[in-house]
Amino acid sequence: MSIRTRAIGIVCAGCVAVGVWDARSEKVLKPVDAELVEVAWCARQEVPFIVYHGHRTDAEQASFIAKGVSWVKRSKHQDGLAIDVMALKDGKGTWELKYYQKIATAFYACSQKLNIPITWGCEWKVKDCVHFERK
Ligand SMILES: [Zn+2]
Repeated sequence: MSIRTRAIGIVCAGCVAVGVWDARSEKVLKPVDAELVEVAWCARQEVPFIVYHGHRTDAEQASFIAKGVSWVKRSKHQDGLAIDVMALKDGKGTWELKYYQKIATAFYACSQKLNIPITWGCEWKVKDCVHFERK
């Protein structure tokens, strides 16, 4: 299993199987809220994706704002209550929205089943379709 991070995104080989976390996701999810992980794990049984961001320190958030990839001073990532996912298409990361819609459908179904309320960032005015957080 090899996962490479590149400037344009993440290429993930060997982690297409539904129902398993790849090594990166597993590591990223460690400091994340256990109930959010439960929802993500449940969704992972339905659709392939990796989790590439979870908990963020204040310094990391500040650098994300500086880079223009985040726009809020306080994000739920800093409390371990948010994750960013990357959809997988044939084992490779994709930004195609339809894959994120499938992931969101799975997240919401699991959220309801487990009674753990979540929000998908794609529903915000400033859309963040890779982002899921606890309500
Ligand atoms: Zn996020």
